[in-house]
Amino acid sequence: MNMVTPPPDIAAISALQSRLVSALSPILPEHALLWQPEDTIPYECDGLAAYRRMPLAVALPETEAQVAQILKICFDMQIPVVPRGSGTGLSGGAMPISQGLVLSLAKLKKIISIDAFTRTAVVQPGVRNLAISEAVAHLGLYYAPDPSSQIACSIGGNVNENSGGVHCLKYGLTLHNVLRVRGVLMNGEIVEFGSLAPDSPGLDLLAIVMGSEGMLAVVTEVTVKLVAKPKLARVIMASFDDIEKGGNAVAAIIAAGIIPAGLEMMDKATTRAVEEFVHAGYDLEAEAILLCESDGTFEEVAEEIARMTKVLEESGASGIKISQDESERLKFWSGRKMPSLLQVESQLTITAWMALFLADILLLY
Ligand SMILES: Cc1cc2nc3c(=O)[nH]c(=O)nc-3n(C[C@H](O)[C@H](O)[C@H](O)COP(=O)(O)OP(=O)(O)OC[C@H]3O[C@@H](n4cnc5c(N)ncnc54)[C@H](O)[C@@H]3O)c2cc1C
Repeated sequence: MNMVTPPPDIAAISALQSRLVSALSPILPEHALLWQPEDTIPYECDGLAAYRRMPLAVALPETEAQVAQILKICFDMQIPVVPRGSGTGLSGGAMPISQGLVLSLAKLKKIISIDAFTRTAVVQPGVRNLAISEAVAHLGLYYAPDPSSQIACSIGGNVNENSGGVHCLKYGLTLHNVLRVRGVLMNGEIVEFGSLAPDSPGLDLLAIVMGSEGMLAVVTEVTVKLVAKPKLARVIMASFDDIEKGGNAVAAIIAAGIIPAGLEMMDKATTRAVEEFVHAGYDLEAEAILLCESDGTFEEVAEEIARMTKVLEESGASGIKISQDESERLKFWSGRKMPSLLQVESQLTITAWMALFLADILLLY
């Protein structure tokens, strides 16, 4: 049976919008509050672009105090709030709620402190994932979780999706790489989860906020762990004439007691779609390719690459290439790190991808 949706009450929505804008205007500069459709349309969806909804307004606070004030006002007015990082989420978490406010954290993008001794950094939620590693590269450190969207996605979004990436098998998800999260509850109260010490007193609630999709608190500060850059990393690219063989090779590697630094399988449709853009040299005849990375000292990498090669050959790999230098390693991974892949993942065109993220990216720089 088809449901008949009643037409929206335009006059009531418009009145609510006016009340919200009037309430938020005194606490936000003019450029930090958007409500005209031409300004809010870039926020109508996230990476799950099949679903779209226009918000009443979009707020772009520049301080934690403004975040708290906005939430308190919306709480009092009973207006739902959807926090937003860079809008790369693929599960619709940042899609507006009808007659609600989108709270973009994109302007909170400062790296507050870096401590090489304790290997930690305190960052605001709008800082891009990759920007953390870039900021600490001169110290020989990096931030390990690496979603393929890391050039654009924010640490606030990573926390709220508990994001992982190709290197998370060895280095863990966001949950395993964050020590402390500071945020604001819907009533404007400031809260902290976790601490710098591994055994802080009281309930350990850090895991609750991880992957909570903005439903528990608006994250305003994140303390991340940093890890030392390995001396060397090399990646094996193995081709398979059958997807199942590739999947079984993954199990065989793990069964052999090897935890690769990175592990990813791409099917034929994916390699064919991305090769045109990235020119990584993927085997386009293979039903699947497997990328297996090893990192560590020169000796560790040599030994692990040899062991993984043996397992892959025994698992029926029809071809094996091993990266010979850092640029080739990055090239092998490029099909998983480029926006072009989104074409495959969400059936968007490159143009749509660019349009979708332009608003967020402009704010991030
Ligand atoms: C090409 C591409 C590749 C991807 N690859 C991966 C991958 O390898 N691994 C992976 O895990 N994901 C991947 N993703 C999904 C996405 O990038 C991640 O989920 C990422 O963490 C989202 O970050 P964001 O800043 O874009 O968050 P948004 O999409 O803006 O938000 C995600 C969720 O977090 C909430 N949120 C955002 N910021 C805050 C905050 N400060 N406080 C409270 N709630 C907040 C939002 O309400 C929403 O529920 C990919 C996406 C794309 C487009």
